[in-house]
Amino acid sequence: MQYHRNGFKPGNYQIPDEVREPYPRPPLAPLPAEVDVLIVGCGPAGLTMARQLAEFSDISTCIVDREPGPLLFGRADGISCRTMEIMEAFNSSEMIVKETYQLRKNAFWEPDPDNPDHIKRTHKISDARIGLSEFIHGIVNQARLHELLLDGMKHSVTGLEPHYSRKLLTLDIDQSLTHNLDAHPITATFERLDDDQPGKKETVKARYVVGTDGARSVVRKSLGIELKGDSANKAWGVMDVLVVTDYPDIRVKSFIQSKEHGAVMLIPREGGYLVRMYVELDILEEGQRAASVKLTEKDIIAKMQRIYHPFTVEVKEVAWWSIYEVGQRVAERFDDRPLDAPEDQTPRAFVAGDACHTHSPKGGWGLNTSLPDTFNLGWKMAAVLQGKSQPKLLQTYSLERRKVAEQLIDADRQLSRLVATSPSAKQVSDGRQTNTTDIEEFMARQNGFIAGTGIGYYPSYLCTGHENQELASGFTIGQRFHSAIAVRVADGRPQHLGHLVKADGRWRIFIFGSGQNPCNSSSDSGNLIEFLANDPSSPVVRYTPKKADIDSVIDVYGVFQQQELSIQDIPDFLWPPGGKYGLRNYDKVFHAEVGNDVFDLRGINRDQGCMVVVRPDQHIATLLPLNAHTELAAFFDEFMIPPR
Ligand SMILES: Cc1cc2nc3c(=O)[nH]c(=O)nc-3n(C[C@H](O)[C@H](O)[C@H](O)COP(=O)(O)OP(=O)(O)OC[C@H]3O[C@@H](n4cnc5c(N)ncnc54)[C@H](O)[C@@H]3O)c2cc1C
Repeated sequence: MQYHRNGFKPGNYQIPDEVREPYPRPPLAPLPAEVDVLIVGCGPAGLTMARQLAEFSDISTCIVDREPGPLLFGRADGISCRTMEIMEAFNSSEMIVKETYQLRKNAFWEPDPDNPDHIKRTHKISDARIGLSEFIHGIVNQARLHELLLDGMKHSVTGLEPHYSRKLLTLDIDQSLTHNLDAHPITATFERLDDDQPGKKETVKARYVVGTDGARSVVRKSLGIELKGDSANKAWGVMDVLVVTDYPDIRVKSFIQSKEHGAVMLIPREGGYLVRMYVELDILEEGQRAASVKLTEKDIIAKMQRIYHPFTVEVKEVAWWSIYEVGQRVAERFDDRPLDAPEDQTPRAFVAGDACHTHSPKGGWGLNTSLPDTFNLGWKMAAVLQGKSQPKLLQTYSLERRKVAEQLIDADRQLSRLVATSPSAKQVSDGRQTNTTDIEEFMARQNGFIAGTGIGYYPSYLCTGHENQELASGFTIGQRFHSAIAVRVADGRPQHLGHLVKADGRWRIFIFGSGQNPCNSSSDSGNLIEFLANDPSSPVVRYTPKKADIDSVIDVYGVFQQQELSIQDIPDFLWPPGGKYGLRNYDKVFHAEVGNDVFDLRGINRDQGCMVVVRPDQHIATLLPLNAHTELAAFFDEFMIPPR
């Protein structure tokens, strides 16, 4: 798809440039007096939290932002493979796949040894992330991703829409109420910034609050949470531009290092014409903020043009620009529980996204770490509010995501050094002529982290069973369920198994059958299905409300090696009735695809098979042998609550 040919235009890229309008602002409505969850900030972290909670009609949510309406321009632009997978869980990946620039190659440019004032391409390589996911890393306006989340909220059962033009002033937590989970201990005071009632104060009371209000988070400050790490010392100019140029790699992501003028990172953007450029500016003084650097887009363009010599880059339009500072900081905790809190204290306030980790923009990690933060928190919050899981589940958010933030800060420190510095004297004396080689090595080493697909959580009661890892070496416990294709028995359609794990708060159990035929009731798969369907200790039996569909809490799938299966011969627990007519669900039984066999692709033990238990956020909770019925029950009993 091509767009922006006659100038950048925000909005829905499915609509031609000529008639495209910016995403509409919802009408101003009064803030609710009381809600279950208050979310402050409509960035990717806040919108993902809201998008997740919007799935549940029994949870009231309010999301607020100080801006007058949805984002239109700029900011983060990289959409990692993992972010795409999460958008698939929200049923919105197709648009992104269609609209993004797909990152397939990287080019490296350095001073020409024969003429060091000129840059010269050293090499071009395939992107290290290719093959880590069924999705390809893409580049698109952050605002477009916001729109897809906003559309999903609006069209959900709750019809949730943000409240704009409200600035959070203060946030108080009444500690005398925090032990009572039904109470509303949080009081947030907002100031209206719109023209109708400027300065008017509004108050919202909430059971839980999520601060997704960016790097200068008022929520974080109100909770007394400190950011630890280095403050900024390097400013980068960033701009989205439409250019006419003779630079041959204008449609290839490029790392460009000049001899004397610094570095540029070029990222082609969606629509065929737009490009993003990160231009290295000067080192900041101690304590100086990027906002105080009195540079304009003209200075950034002039610097970029010097770096590009001998190529000419004529900027026809600047769609957006900003001066961005590099500083790697992470919050000491991601919720309101003090570090020495008693074990049974339930957190009531959380920070996510830039509110708890800040870093440079070059790795493209801001959005791609912020959005999965709340993808981790959202289902947990819903499960606790709905009384399905014990409140201690909420403590795992900070534990799991803080580890990721620390990895991010570490990776960003390394990348910032590599992208911004000329080869050191030592590198030159070691015969290392280039530092773009170091970038390439870094990218290859960190590819799983950069793609988001290699991110895993610590062992805990939510990620367990590591002694069984060899039953399926390609499904790493703690990491996201790596999708692969299998063939649906009922109609022969190839189906990505990972795409069955939607963001609907349900747990999934994938039964990967052994060599024994599952149609035989005494086979290990047959026994497991019998246990799941009928045993009083089965988590499906124990945690599914009496009148609810059998798969409404735990959704079970069967994937078998045997090719000649007929749905009628499989126990009907795997094609259960559901909905008001009791219609049969035929989408749960699969066989391996010949030539693209999931058992081979994911290293599943063909003799023994295994169970893979997948969390509502698509991460693998545990791997178990097919006969580990007691262990499976014990896993869920650790944190689930039976229905009343
Ligand atoms: C100006 C700017 C430029 C950026 N450029 C890049 C870039 O070039 N590349 C890159 O990878 N990343 C960039 N980022 C970072 C990237 O956008 C973030 O990492 C990502 O958006 C983080 O998402 P988030 O939801 O945590 O926070 P944000 O996207 O920052 O969202 C926070 C939201 O909270 C709202 N808010 C803040 N305070 C209040 C308050 N008191 N009351 C109500 N609402 C409030 C803000 O209006 C904002 O909408 C940029 C960020 C900014 C702010």
